[in-house]
Amino acid sequence: MTCGRRVVRVTVVVVGAGIAGLACARELGDAGVPARVLERSDEPGGRLASVSLDGRFADIGAAYVTADDPSFQGRLQSWRIEGLARPWTDTFRGQHGPGPMRWSAPAGLRSLAHSLAAGLDITYGTEVTELPEAEYVVLAMPGPEALRIADLPAARDQSWDPVLTAVLTYPRRSWDDFHGMFVNDHPAVATICDDGDRRGDRAPVLVAHSTAQFARDEASDLTRDETSRLTQGGLTQGGLTHGGLTHGGLTQSGLTRGGRPRVGRGGSRDAMVTAVNGVLGIEEAPETAYRLWPYAQPRPLPGDFARSGNVYLCGDVFGRPRVQTAWLSGRAVAEDILRVRSGRPPSSPRRSATS
Ligand SMILES: Cc1cc2nc3c(=O)[nH]c(=O)nc-3n(C[C@H](O)[C@H](O)[C@H](O)COP(=O)(O)OP(=O)(O)OC[C@H]3O[C@@H](n4cnc5c(N)ncnc54)[C@H](O)[C@@H]3O)c2cc1C
Repeated sequence: MTCGRRVVRVTVVVVGAGIAGLACARELGDAGVPARVLERSDEPGGRLASVSLDGRFADIGAAYVTADDPSFQGRLQSWRIEGLARPWTDTFRGQHGPGPMRWSAPAGLRSLAHSLAAGLDITYGTEVTELPEAEYVVLAMPGPEALRIADLPAARDQSWDPVLTAVLTYPRRSWDDFHGMFVNDHPAVATICDDGDRRGDRAPVLVAHSTAQFARDEASDLTRDETSRLTQGGLTQGGLTHGGLTHGGLTQSGLTRGGRPRVGRGGSRDAMVTAVNGVLGIEEAPETAYRLWPYAQPRPLPGDFARSGNVYLCGDVFGRPRVQTAWLSGRAVAEDILRVRSGRPPSSPRRSATS
């Protein structure tokens, strides 16, 4: 990078301010190694995503956070002390056996990413298309997105499922109390969460996640324009309307609103509304907003991260696809960079897949 006449070589550039990239940059910063973070979106969090709809945040990506790793449990407890996270529930309808404690965030789960991002050197609104110059580059994102930057074998080897998220805002709460549910064996809907219960404000808002197959079918019907509207920023409200998405107003984060369920192009999405209303015995039609995640859930790869020369790849593909996994993967990359810089041998040769 050029700074006046001097060429300053940045030590580490982290591409992606999702939970993995943030954890990596923070760990490096704490160890005194400067890291510059580049993020294409205008805020941190990636799939740890909350968007503002009419001034209220709804969680549209990760539904909750769970922790069984001691260091991540410590991170959650710190967020709890700061008032950012709280234990939500260990009980979901449709779960088989006892569930883990699921944590939520009163200000939306993205607030946890904002907390990690505080004080870091992050440039937003920057889509990286080629490998930046730096001693080390960390690509903290799904493999298919990393492939647009560099042809890394570990990125090629990944397999991802999409998810369509529907945010359903009702005139009132007309369903029996529940926290969340797995809608087992349904063709359209996989999970439903009561966002008002999750956030603690009792707003009449439900968030449903589709099955992978439903999202795949839905995505295959979209034009390129529609796909980019549904996948970028936050949500699309009012369904995929034609041209001006003015009804209800697009939120800053770009969620697309759909209004009342409708028929015609994009109308298949209303199968999610029909499913949610059917499962919960709701008769009223909600306002709808949608967000498509083309890379929502990966098939896990072994190791904590991958490395090709001075380029690292990290994220939730390295373990169960969870926020915790992304956080641990980002930290593991930071530890490896610190190790390599200090000339220490690897402590556990199986931690990374080097290609
Ligand atoms: C619908 C859904 C439900 C989920 N439910 C849960 C759950 O209940 N519990 C749970 O633990 N996990 C859940 N997850 C998974 C969880 O969200 C992820 O594991 C975690 O957020 C992944 O973090 P990450 O940093 O690895 O990747 P991401 O969050 O995807 O971050 C990647 C970042 O890189 C940026 N980026 C990509 N390409 C570029 C580029 N070229 N230039 C610059 N920036 C770029 C992106 O904008 C993004 O900010 C869910 C995910 C989805 C989609």
